[in-house]
Amino acid sequence: MRMRKTAAAGAVVLGLALTATACGGESGTAGDKPTGEKVFSGTYTAADKVTVDSPALKEAQKRGKLIIGAKADQPYLGFQDTDGKRTGFDIEIAKMIAADLGFGADKIEFKTVDSNVRETAISKGQVDLYVGTYTINDERKKQVGFAGPYYTAGADLLVRKDEKDITGPDTLKGKKVCSIVGSTPLREIKKPKYGAQTTELSKYSLCVKQLLDGQVDAVTTDDAILKGYAAERPTKLKVVGKPFTKEPYGVGMAKGDKALQNAVSDALEKHIKNGDYKKAYEGTIGRSGSAYVAPETPLPRD
Ligand code: GLU
Repeated sequence: MRMRKTAAAGAVVLGLALTATACGGESGTAGDKPTGEKVFSGTYTAADKVTVDSPALKEAQKRGKLIIGAKADQPYLGFQDTDGKRTGFDIEIAKMIAADLGFGADKIEFKTVDSNVRETAISKGQVDLYVGTYTINDERKKQVGFAGPYYTAGADLLVRKDEKDITGPDTLKGKKVCSIVGSTPLREIKKPKYGAQTTELSKYSLCVKQLLDGQVDAVTTDDAILKGYAAERPTKLKVVGKPFTKEPYGVGMAKGDKALQNAVSDALEKHIKNGDYKKAYEGTIGRSGSAYVAPETPLPRD
């Protein structure tokens, strides 16, 4: 039986949010194209003898692995295929940073952490870093630290290809809109001014499935994420293309770990300057339709 979770007040399904290995089949809706192969995946030389006065990094050095939280169901951004291979822009950013902290790709342990449990995973030390379409904002800064922004997205709408009525956020009155728990676009779309009925799930791929199945009228989250889903199913889905928020992406880490924040910012700045960032961008989200924009450097440090 299909679970239908739609209610004016917003039904909440908190699923398997924190899993060490994600099931790539999550996005296995009929008509999927495999994602992994067509996305750029680079290698970055690991630095040796890194000394940074960071508790998280010292722990990681002791264990010999850097644990990085990521998404697994966002094609071109943070995706894990059925063989377990991770690809996407955020994965490249994570690999670049890890290399500069002394961890080659074989010394990274990726953990799938969905939006609704990011702050918990970071503050409990379940991950050392988090790289997964994570908007920097003051509320989250009360619980976690950030380096960045390394990219700025904007909330947009994903609709079925034949959709005529939904042309922007001001056309959502009475429409069923799916988004995920713990995300900034969900919080935005729940504002009474939009008049939307929300369906609140734990993974974007579940919202996309509901859209394809006709259970909801739109999915909202960052344009970069939605473009990835539309690129996977160009005959079925389209992005409206009217971003209505600003979503600056940061790398999450334990609050107050200034040394780690500086080291991550240094790494980001280095790879932006040396061209790795642009190459990764163009080979990942560039392929799903996000035009290249160079991030502003130097990055803010607080
Ligand atoms: N960038 C937004 C956020 O951090 C939406 C994407 C996501 O849920 O990761 O909430």
